[in-house]
Amino acid sequence: SNSQPVLDVADLQVAYGDLVAVWGASLQLVPGRITALVGRNGAGKTTLLAGICGLLPARSGSVALDGRAVTGLPPWKRVRLGMSIVQEGKQVFRDLSVHDNLRVGLRGRRSGRGEDDTILAELYERFPVLGERRRERAGALSGGQQQMLAIATALAARPRVLLVDEPSSGLAPVITDQVFELLDRLRGEGLAILLVEQLVDELLGGIADDVVVLERGRVTLRDRAANLSAETIADSIYSSI
Ligand code: ATP
Repeated sequence: SNSQPVLDVADLQVAYGDLVAVWGASLQLVPGRITALVGRNGAGKTTLLAGICGLLPARSGSVALDGRAVTGLPPWKRVRLGMSIVQEGKQVFRDLSVHDNLRVGLRGRRSGRGEDDTILAELYERFPVLGERRRERAGALSGGQQQMLAIATALAARPRVLLVDEPSSGLAPVITDQVFELLDRLRGEGLAILLVEQLVDELLGGIADDVVVLERGRVTLRDRAANLSAETIADSIYSSI
């Protein structure tokens, strides 16, 4: 059962009005694996994530979570069904406290207010610095801490599928390493993760199990990371310029 896809994206097409940015993309995520989504700027990675989580409508194709079609559902319903997204650029509510940011994340859960305190305690245990700074404005945190808060807020909904858009963006390498260590632990706990990332060496160095290359809105390569070299990925990304 561990190799059953928890997320199945089939032939998904996503557009901005008449401008089609993603043409029939297909991919599957399984528990305990990280799939890296790579491609040049403008290839459609962020758009594909938006289509998967419902921030943009599917023009055609489908998204299924645990075998259930969620293609027409709004984002908040997909969150309740187990799919959370961490959008690009450390998306936190800067004027809310750290604690209130996490409470917003809790609202993504399907049921059980009774578990809120347990989940918050778990998050503060996992992210001690967020516990220390829980009463401060999120905007007062460092960039790395804001990225961790954005991920923690997504985790508050207890997702089984996590979509993460370029978490390394704007972070120092040592902080990026901490983010990747966190993603590695989450993988170990059985999450299925889709990670948009430009750092191909890091991906092939162990953070990615599978790689999907998107080029001009089309999937041009899909393989296990172990089968790929940085050159293969670069060739695939840059072949059609
Ligand atoms: P980056 O790494 O720069 O974020 P990306 O691979 O995530 O790139 P997208 O941001 O998904 O690419 O963009 C895909 C295409 O859609 C590009 O041609 C882009 O110009 C276009 N696009 C993105 N956002 C919009 C928008 N709001 N309205 C119209 N076109 C858009």
